[in-house]
Amino acid sequence: MESQSTARDGSAPVDVPYSLAASEVVALLGVDQERGISEREALERSERFGPNRLAEAPAVPIWRKLANQFRDLMIWILVVAAVISGALGEWIDSVAILAIVLLNGVIGFFQEERAGRALAALQKLSAPIAKAVRDGLPRMLPAGELVPGDVIELEAGDNIPADARLVQSFGVTVQEAALTGESVPVRKEAGAILAAGTPLGDRRNMVHMGTVAASGKARGIVVATGMGTELGRIARLLERHEPEPTPLQRRLAALGRVLIVITLAIVGVIFLLQVLRGGALIEAFMTAVSLAVAAVPEGLPAIVTVALALGLQRMVKRNALVRKLPSVETLGSVTVICSDKTGTLTRNEMTVQEVLAGGTRYRVTGTGYAPRGEFFMDGSSRTAEPDTAAATEDAAVDPSRAGDLRLALATGAWCNSARLVPEGDGEVAWKVIGDPTEGALIVAGLKAGVEIHDRGRSVVYEIPFDSERKAMSVVVRGGDGRTVLYTKGAPEIILDKCVAERVAGEVRPLSAERRQAILKTNGEMASRALRVLGLARRDDPPISPADDPESRLEFVGLVGMIDPPREEVREAVAKCRAAGIRPVMITGDHPATALAVARKLGMIAEGQRVVPGPELERMSDEQLARQVEGIAVYARASAEDKLRIVQAWRSRGEVVAMTGDGVNDAPAVRAADIGIAMGVTGTDVTKEASDMVLTDDNFASIVNAVEEGRGIFDNIQKVLQFLLSCNFGEILLMFAASLAGWPAPLLPIQLLWINLVTDGLPALALSLEPPEPDVMQRPPRPANESILSPRLGWNIAWQGVLVGFVGLAAFGFIYLRHADAERARAATFCVVVYAELLRALAARSPTRTLGELGLFTNPHLLLAIVVSGMLQASVAIMPWSQRVFGVPWHTPADWAMIVVLALTPVTAIEVGKLVLRRRLGPVAA
Ligand code: ATP
Repeated sequence: MESQSTARDGSAPVDVPYSLAASEVVALLGVDQERGISEREALERSERFGPNRLAEAPAVPIWRKLANQFRDLMIWILVVAAVISGALGEWIDSVAILAIVLLNGVIGFFQEERAGRALAALQKLSAPIAKAVRDGLPRMLPAGELVPGDVIELEAGDNIPADARLVQSFGVTVQEAALTGESVPVRKEAGAILAAGTPLGDRRNMVHMGTVAASGKARGIVVATGMGTELGRIARLLERHEPEPTPLQRRLAALGRVLIVITLAIVGVIFLLQVLRGGALIEAFMTAVSLAVAAVPEGLPAIVTVALALGLQRMVKRNALVRKLPSVETLGSVTVICSDKTGTLTRNEMTVQEVLAGGTRYRVTGTGYAPRGEFFMDGSSRTAEPDTAAATEDAAVDPSRAGDLRLALATGAWCNSARLVPEGDGEVAWKVIGDPTEGALIVAGLKAGVEIHDRGRSVVYEIPFDSERKAMSVVVRGGDGRTVLYTKGAPEIILDKCVAERVAGEVRPLSAERRQAILKTNGEMASRALRVLGLARRDDPPISPADDPESRLEFVGLVGMIDPPREEVREAVAKCRAAGIRPVMITGDHPATALAVARKLGMIAEGQRVVPGPELERMSDEQLARQVEGIAVYARASAEDKLRIVQAWRSRGEVVAMTGDGVNDAPAVRAADIGIAMGVTGTDVTKEASDMVLTDDNFASIVNAVEEGRGIFDNIQKVLQFLLSCNFGEILLMFAASLAGWPAPLLPIQLLWINLVTDGLPALALSLEPPEPDVMQRPPRPANESILSPRLGWNIAWQGVLVGFVGLAAFGFIYLRHADAERARAATFCVVVYAELLRALAARSPTRTLGELGLFTNPHLLLAIVVSGMLQASVAIMPWSQRVFGVPWHTPADWAMIVVLALTPVTAIEVGKLVLRRRLGPVAA
């Protein structure tokens, strides 16, 4: 910013903003610090300054991607073979082979493009979001839309979306390692004014794109975006990251290599046998090369990527965004899901239902965030209190006359960062922007007529809520110039800081009995699933937050709010159990609240218990690992506790999914096998540490993702089984024929064609198979189980034998009876293709028959089979292609045989499923 830069690179016309007072920067940028800029202004600025994005290195051009398809050695051998046969005058063969090679490359290219596009779409979904104020309203914007002059709000855990001059800061520290290499978070002060030329690492009043807020809260004015930011200057071009292959893809590639070696060995033997039989060298060579090409499942990596990427898209529709491809595999073998309570198991829609103030308990009516409701006094808890004397049992209370009640509700409403805004037209629906717990307190305050926005009041400083401290405070200067601190937080924490209590407007010392009585009420409210907060205040607190203002407080009351469990979670929990997955609740809330919610959701099984944070702290890691299976709920747990719980489960060989939202959750989320971040309430730091983000913060979405993950893995296995048994069958056919001393039962061109029609569309369509209905009724797949499981290997073997057998039968029938190799080959060619296409239907499930699955439940596969089948028919029928593929007219008898033999494998497999099921039972099969 020292140098004048052109507008399009995103630098605002403010030189060295850190050397100016915040107010000067605000004035120079023509912004209202409270209201932000208007949407119209933002649009204009966006045109002037460009998007807030770092320029990317150019993408790989299409021609190169296409060329990459032909980098395979096999392909080149094939091309050489085609050239040789061309040179020998077999020009039809030569051209046809080249055409097939080309077609193969193009199909591979499209498969990869499809996968790439699916992945890019997913990446777009996880684009960063910034919190800005525009037209006076807080907005969540894609970070790319920020413009210089935007007012942004920052909280612990947020990525800094652009370079900004701070205008307000409460205990903000920023992790700047990415930019300056400094590993310790740096403290930031909006009030500082620095000399021009201050090095980047010392600019205390600025925050920079690419760094992360580690703690506190701040407001800033964007001074530079995109390439105009300090990050933009350093990284002139953002590297494009090609996605790394997943372990599964790597294992498949390794498998592919083994298959190549085996195939080449067998092909070598076939070649030798043919030559020894006196066949022409060139013919034998062509057969060998074609067989090698046909037998190697070169489409597999692309199909697997498509299966993964499309599976991920399905997950997105079910609100789970997987950020790392390998996680899909891990998802399928998850055995434990540790979940936060608030917002994940519950709806995070808080409504204050009870208040304890001045020793009296009140009931609050009303639902949701509409600020309409009444107060009733609970007669049994009523103590002598002049203020409320007017109220009678079970009668409505006029809050304007209940001083203690109003004070408690005002404390909750003022110690607050949330906002309540009407949604839609009129005031029909209300929405909370910010923390719903705080929103509920505003709503309760409004119900009691508390003035929420008093122009005369101003915030002196704030100690933001932090789930470790479990409390939050705000120091406010009133119209009369006096300052008051308002605090709220977990009741036991608040009570610890209190020395007095307000009753009927008077300050009384807080006796030990009263403390006990309040804690008892707290426990009783919590046991009814209420989330309880303690409220307190202090007159004339220290002027600096560093002097421990949260001490010597006056207790003013408790509020109990309901946060209903999400309806769908109960079912999801049951589904987990059926799937052999153990659900665990980890919450910052009170043990009684946690237990009550866990019971409602069926999360706590016979013999399982609740462990509060302090008890957990006393346990050694070994003790925890020993007991972990018996603990269903952890309450008042901290982020470190989460990490220990993950480690304890993992030490027992379990595969753990763990949710998190706050900055402190990042280590536990990272340590879990599947780290899950909350999309709505989660911080950027946690999202970045995670493998998966829930776009609706809902526990049920985790379970859905596991279901999809299992389905995707199944599909990959199905494709693998289908392709490998096809190839195995072809090799067997060729091998057996050479052993029998017969001519090659398939021509090179026929082999290549088979490879094209069976490995192409049907295999791709198989990867789109919807998850089978019982995926969540079987135990998780062992994490260390090879993708090529024994069952899969067995199926590949016997189904391969089937295909080889019908091919050989077709050839043998005609060749032995008519001694016509061409006619025999033509029949074999058709039998193999049709048998494969029909077998794809049986490959849809290893245990379920087509009748059970429903013929039309995978329409892609039907389409693939029809299209491929018609292609094959046209090859067999059209005169010109008959010539190319060496296929004469089939006689009706030949056709009949083709139909019977082509139907044999699919029928045998389907019958096999039924037999196996009868013998072993549905699960074992
Ligand atoms: P979970 O970990 O399941 O999401 P949680 O949201 O209840 O649980 P925290 O947000 O860490 O966990 O809250 C812990 C405790 O801190 C709550 O039980 C409540 O007493 C208190 N608390 C929550 N929100 C606030 C807030 N905004 N201000 C003050 N105290 C709060």
